[in-house]
Amino acid sequence: MKATQKGLSIEGVQGHNRQVILKALHDLGTCSRKDISVVSGLDQATITRAIGSLLKDGIVEEVGLAKSDRGRRSINLDFTTKGRHILCLRLQRRSFSIAVFNLRGESIEPMEYTIQRGQSAAQTFADIAVAIDQRIADLGQVDGIGIAVPGPFLERDERVILITESPEWQGFEFIAELRSRNPDIPIFSTHDAKAAGLTEWRHVAHKTDARVLLYVSAGQGIGSALIVGGEIYRGALGLAGELGHMSINFDGVQCKCGNTGCLELYASRIVLMRAIRERAAKSNDTNLTGEATFAEVVEAYATGDELVTHEVSKVARYLAQGISNCINFSNPDLIVIGDEYAEFGEPFLNIIKKWVEKAVLPSVYSSIKIELSNSAEDTVLKGAFLEVFSQTYLGSRREPQQNKII
Ligand SMILES: [Zn+2]
Repeated sequence: MKATQKGLSIEGVQGHNRQVILKALHDLGTCSRKDISVVSGLDQATITRAIGSLLKDGIVEEVGLAKSDRGRRSINLDFTTKGRHILCLRLQRRSFSIAVFNLRGESIEPMEYTIQRGQSAAQTFADIAVAIDQRIADLGQVDGIGIAVPGPFLERDERVILITESPEWQGFEFIAELRSRNPDIPIFSTHDAKAAGLTEWRHVAHKTDARVLLYVSAGQGIGSALIVGGEIYRGALGLAGELGHMSINFDGVQCKCGNTGCLELYASRIVLMRAIRERAAKSNDTNLTGEATFAEVVEAYATGDELVTHEVSKVARYLAQGISNCINFSNPDLIVIGDEYAEFGEPFLNIIKKWVEKAVLPSVYSSIKIELSNSAEDTVLKGAFLEVFSQTYLGSRREPQQNKII
């Protein structure tokens, strides 16, 4: 878009330039005005003027000197780490987490809170609201709140349709409720696997030249996200990627979604833990007890515990079936498996690869990289941040809309 384009107001052009500059800074990280000029195609004078206002608004800050190519020194820029924050909430079946991010996407003191078994959705919501109020009070101001929830989540209507094992969330309009409690703060919600997929795209995909990333979230629930050229594929209702409700056995267990043999009923962490605990309570094949924690299971798997190896291998086989179905449907070139199951490491990944290799055509298999997420941070919370950031600072719109600048 050029300044001379018919129908553009000066404010519109300036707003557009500002977003282009922020996007360049977001993609490049710490960099000089010249770097931004090269990436954005805007001339230096325009950039200097726009950055002047961004500095004044406390969105970016100058961060020391960088050596330019001719040996001259120039001042680097980055987003400010002070004053402006985005608060993110991740809801899971047995816990919720809250993290505060600065505009560089660095999280400050993420905290996890346990949801007691059998606790009502209303009580959990009350706990969430108190925790959020507390964080907002500590910060003084937040620029936006991002919420990531398990699926099936109707992103279009911001409605949780079903969380297996936590049916009380069904129909509970907690996002609208949060919005009415915080009317002055923009709130954006997203499906957890899509949020994590977005983070993985930013971390991994652009470094590997991947075009289609299938992100598989495997933990308390099973979900996935398809990211095509950096954009999340959402589907008509924002429901795309419900891998957990893809059947791997039509003669299988009845799922609350209506289908039978849904992958999540065989492969979620909740199901895995139940199976391990039940068997451990009456077996000599393990050092674990009927009270084993997930951390203990991960450790037992690493040390070759027979019972745990058997159960985790079964889950890997089920996941591989779901992933193979996704490969045949969506033809990804990169698959990243994340969330809690990534802690099982390479042996787990190798079982999945073995079964996927058997299930798909050789030429297809050889074109795909399958990896475990190796992110040290919570990719769901980070993805919730990325969503809020891109919608509040970069002018992204989830739904295609008329360009308001024109
Ligand atoms: Zn289902």
